[in-house]
Amino acid sequence: KDRNPGEPEFHQAVLEVFESIEPILSKNDKYLEEKVFERMAEPERIITFRVCWTDDNNQIQVNRGYRVQMNSAMGPYKGGLRFHPSLNLSILKFLAFEQTFKNALTGLPLGSGKGGADFNPKHKSDREIMRFCQAWMLEAQRHIGHFTDIPAGDIGVGEKEIGYLFGAFKKIRNEFQGSITGKGPLWGGSFLRPEATGYGLVHFAEYMLTEIGENLEAKTCLVSGSGNVSQFAIEKLLEHKANVVAFSDSTGFIHDEEGLNAEKLAFLKELKNTKRESVAGYAEKFKSATYYEGTEKRIWSVPADCAFPCATQNELDADDVKDLDKNGVMLIAEGANMPLTDPAIKAVQKSNIIYAPGKAANAGGVAISGLEMTQNRLGRYWPRDRMEIELRVLMQGIHENCLDTMKKYSLDKQDYLNAANIAGFERVAKAMVAQGSW
Ligand code: NDP
Repeated sequence: KDRNPGEPEFHQAVLEVFESIEPILSKNDKYLEEKVFERMAEPERIITFRVCWTDDNNQIQVNRGYRVQMNSAMGPYKGGLRFHPSLNLSILKFLAFEQTFKNALTGLPLGSGKGGADFNPKHKSDREIMRFCQAWMLEAQRHIGHFTDIPAGDIGVGEKEIGYLFGAFKKIRNEFQGSITGKGPLWGGSFLRPEATGYGLVHFAEYMLTEIGENLEAKTCLVSGSGNVSQFAIEKLLEHKANVVAFSDSTGFIHDEEGLNAEKLAFLKELKNTKRESVAGYAEKFKSATYYEGTEKRIWSVPADCAFPCATQNELDADDVKDLDKNGVMLIAEGANMPLTDPAIKAVQKSNIIYAPGKAANAGGVAISGLEMTQNRLGRYWPRDRMEIELRVLMQGIHENCLDTMKKYSLDKQDYLNAANIAGFERVAKAMVAQGSW
């Protein structure tokens, strides 16, 4: 903490992993001698830069751009870009640190990184977003490339932004290469990348429920957020015949007593992706739904069987866990990165709720990004049905890796948190030791 003052999210992420791996670390002289964990907690490189762009009123705007290149032991740096006014180094370092273990869990040759800017894409015209992306890439392009560092999307960065970023990279470098993932399938992207995080999350939840003799059919589900991860998690839950009754955004949440269906989800996608409006509009359209503005009443107080936090970090606290537990929730699976506060995780561990940490449960997105990189290098593109199978197999592999780690280290049954941290750590630690200290 002394070394990284004022970075609470980063401390939280590092401490959580440390608590899981401490028993292994203390028994492994090589890891201690090589200072493996200290090295993992220090980014290999941090780049911050000025991003100057011109708004529609011809005024110059100044933002701060970032790229944290965290760990390249397993492959080139890989991780998303976030455009959000609250973005800072603490958030980026926590995201990049988590990415190290998540990417290792996929079994693909992916290092870790994260980046973005304190730019608010809300209420900006397409032209403004384009000029911002071009200005961001003007500096960042010298640090990225298909064998060096491959960004993707995250909060505030979807296919539109990826298109502008990729176009700028191609123009400046005069190279059409897989320097960024999440591209449209027409121009170098992979089928299923937009869906992969949300779909993969639901696959993982289904594998967990199978272990306890359950499944998602007819289960009442809460999904926070209403962006990329949430929309495709809802879509997959509906395929499993689950009953999704609540979702949210930064303005408040919707409780739809009758549950969503394909038509309602299409309306939600239009509302959030095209109109870029608040979820409040959903309750104006559908009479079975109520909109709760602000944070006083919590989405997590709605009675349900399964909860999928898919919005942002620290969105679910210990009191929320109490509510979920009281209402008989059996599973919490993290679509977002670090959505549970540390006290919330401790409360879950004392409850009967089974819990999937984001490092394992939301790894589907980066896994399909890894396969987008493979397709870019091959210059051949795989059909959608193949990608569906690849995603399922990758999520199953992560799930089995967690189960194997629980057995190997005599962890409690269903202890996915410690299993995911240990399994990810071991892979990266071995690669770091093999490559010497630098
Ligand atoms: P989007 O920008 O598409 O959606 C984010 C959603 O979360 C929006 O509905 C947004 O509301 C809501 N939100 C943001 N901040 C808050 C807040 N402080 N309180 C309540 N709601 C909030 O992002 P993604 O869906 O891509 O990402 C969501 C989470 O999933 C993030 O934690 C991200 O790191 C993680 N993730 C994403 C992956 C991906 O492939 N995209 C991969 C793995 C993890 P509003 O519309 O009002 O802004």
